[in-house]
Amino acid sequence: MGLVVQKYGGSSVADAEGIKRVAKRIVEAKKNGHQVVAVVSAMGDTTDELIDLAEQVSPIPAGRELDMLLTAGERISMALLAMAIKNLGHNAQSFTGSQAGVITDSVHNKARIIDVTPGRIKTSVDEGNIAIVAGFQGVSQDSKDITTLGRGGSDTTAVALAAALDAEVCEIYTDVDGVFTADPRVVSRARKIDWIAFEDMLELAASGSKVLLHRCVEYARRYNIPIHVRSSFSGLQGTWVSSAPRKQGDKQVEQALISGVAHDTSEAKVTVVGVPDKPGEAASIFRTIANAEINIDMVVQNVSAASTGLTDISFTLPKTEGRRAIDALEKNKGTIGFDSLRYDDQIGKISLVGAGMKTNPGVTADFFTALSDAGVNIELISTSEIRISVVTRKDDVPEAVRAVHSAFGLDSDSDEAVIYGGTGR
Ligand code: ASP
Ligand code: MG
Repeated sequence: MGLVVQKYGGSSVADAEGIKRVAKRIVEAKKNGHQVVAVVSAMGDTTDELIDLAEQVSPIPAGRELDMLLTAGERISMALLAMAIKNLGHNAQSFTGSQAGVITDSVHNKARIIDVTPGRIKTSVDEGNIAIVAGFQGVSQDSKDITTLGRGGSDTTAVALAAALDAEVCEIYTDVDGVFTADPRVVSRARKIDWIAFEDMLELAASGSKVLLHRCVEYARRYNIPIHVRSSFSGLQGTWVSSAPRKQGDKQVEQALISGVAHDTSEAKVTVVGVPDKPGEAASIFRTIANAEINIDMVVQNVSAASTGLTDISFTLPKTEGRRAIDALEKNKGTIGFDSLRYDDQIGKISLVGAGMKTNPGVTADFFTALSDAGVNIELISTSEIRISVVTRKDDVPEAVRAVHSAFGLDSDSDEAVIYGGTGR
């Protein structure tokens, strides 16, 4: 039996009871003959509370100090979990990200892992211990300062450690039973997916599905680490995310034509009105946005009215970057050349994802029909080989997601989706 990396999210370790329950689960895996490395998030909403606190003492907290503060959240849960395991009669040692060898670049609040040197973890498990590692944190190679990996970063810690330790599997324990065909908080008839390919999971994550972060799936695909997403509250099999379908019992799992429907209400839309329809205009708009280090999502340009020679260009971006994008464009209004800017944060995005789209011609038509039957107006459209996304009014999103989910036959016969904990934030 090999080594397994298990990751427990904030809602799984929200209180002392939760920590004791997780400790039992970890000990079970150990008793089954595995070497176990457990990665933990901060308890419950600790990270949000620490951010609130920081903002009370400083409107824009210094990145270095914010990282120092936030990493304390994971240190609390790792130490408590190690104590709970010892109380069950097993040896456990906790390690910070830095001690575990998680080496990052020096970008505070959203550092990237550049190397993992898990020597101490290896030694600890070889000596028979259960190793507990604080998720979401590392140490900068250059500045030697403590860094964090961005919200939800513990999943990435777990996958990175699994790759560096050559683990059999990375188990991600969360507050739902796996990856669903839609967010069970919106679609009660959402169905649990038994297996999903890395590619489809990447598209779902990029489209707003919150079960797994995009960066974590990307990492798992690069190192070909199978992820098993499952609940720490139930003993059920969850969702396997891997490169090839796996057998479950004696039944071969097939690739679904449509994997699921994702939605995202965290974006806003900027429209640049009255742009001269000539070469170089789009380039200068998006150069301005890029120079402000802002990532954009969808882009559309309208046909220009022949009489004016002017066109409108719309794009979407994270709401959190909206203010900065508008400021950057206003500042360069003279050089870019446009009439005005419009900002709209009442939008939502709905995406249908599935490898079957490549070969099934009717999917786009069925998607638009489902939206029109639900009376939902489409504002922007974008596609990839295995995804169609539309932007609609934010208020239309829940209805639109349910309509598309039903239209593609994804509804389960019962309300099987259980949400065991957490606030979903
Ligand atoms: N505690 C951090 C957060 O809430 C990291 C994580 O949960 O993965 O974002
Ligand atoms: Mg968390």
